[in-house]
Amino acid sequence: MSVYFEVYEIVKGIPSGRILTYGLISNLLEKRLSAQGVGWALRALSSDKANKKYHSGNVPWHRVINSSGGVSTTRNTEMPPDLQQSLLEAEGIVFNSEGKLDMQKYLWAERLVSAVSLAILAFAVMLSLTVLPAYSKPTPDQVLQELKSGNKRYLSGKTKHFEVDSAKRELTAINGQTPVAIVLGCSDSRVPVEMVFDQGLAELFVVRVAGNVCATSELASIEYGVKYLGIPLVIVLGHSECGAVKAAVDSAVNGALLPGNLPTIMSKIAPAVAAARRSHPNEKGDQLVHSSAIANVWLSANDMLSNSTIVKEAVFSGKVKIVGAMRDIKTGVITFLGEYPQPARLMTK
Ligand SMILES: [Zn+2]
Repeated sequence: MSVYFEVYEIVKGIPSGRILTYGLISNLLEKRLSAQGVGWALRALSSDKANKKYHSGNVPWHRVINSSGGVSTTRNTEMPPDLQQSLLEAEGIVFNSEGKLDMQKYLWAERLVSAVSLAILAFAVMLSLTVLPAYSKPTPDQVLQELKSGNKRYLSGKTKHFEVDSAKRELTAINGQTPVAIVLGCSDSRVPVEMVFDQGLAELFVVRVAGNVCATSELASIEYGVKYLGIPLVIVLGHSECGAVKAAVDSAVNGALLPGNLPTIMSKIAPAVAAARRSHPNEKGDQLVHSSAIANVWLSANDMLSNSTIVKEAVFSGKVKIVGAMRDIKTGVITFLGEYPQPARLMTK
């Protein structure tokens, strides 16, 4: 049974004059669907009463409220904003002047507990208030922390084991994508971005190009993620043993020429190689390639900031962070290099 249908079965059981919250239904589903996902499931209810098993006429969606005891006027955009409150008031529920109801009075406690005392239940409601805010968006730092943890899971082999996630697929098909990070990475097949951060379907907005350069098309993709998807974190992910960086070093040191359109990418990396040679005049071979790869991460970060008003405004207003990172091909470890520009420099802008 689709997890959506499980939501509908739970909601169908809520008696008249009683309520549950999105977060508590998520708990009942053992978090197989987030509180936000429960909201999406209810929003996806059809008004087609003739041909659907579950529809807005037989699933009392209005008896599900947010964790602060209020109705969510933004959720059902096609409905009158006060419809949910009106339907609940018709069932005898009283709202205070702030549009909130008395959670403990109206909560459908019997569904949540059998032998647990109401005192513990009240605590659970309080907890759902603090840990399951229905529609909060993660901060750049929260996303960064999750990606660091994801790389640790990947390294330990204890990944989340994303299987064919049909519920998530349904959700994203209906509601669109809500990825939490943009990753500008290299096309190298040894750096599969979702795998190395242990993330599933629709969680990362990935731009991959040889040498993780940030030319116009890459930048336009990043702008889309920042402006239209509201993604709070951009990671520029370089890696060791990068063929594109090696070729750019070879071109700078030995004057080697590449065929076809490859020089376009080489010309994007060349300033990073020049910077690495200036900073590390004694380095050669693998050492110079490594320093150039790190310089190239910062060059791409600088390119996206310098060449995009959208990215610049998002970064300087604090909505978005750009973070550099390097992946070691042999060990799989991702080393985070810090923010770009450095927070101290950001303060002076
Ligand atoms: Zn590469």
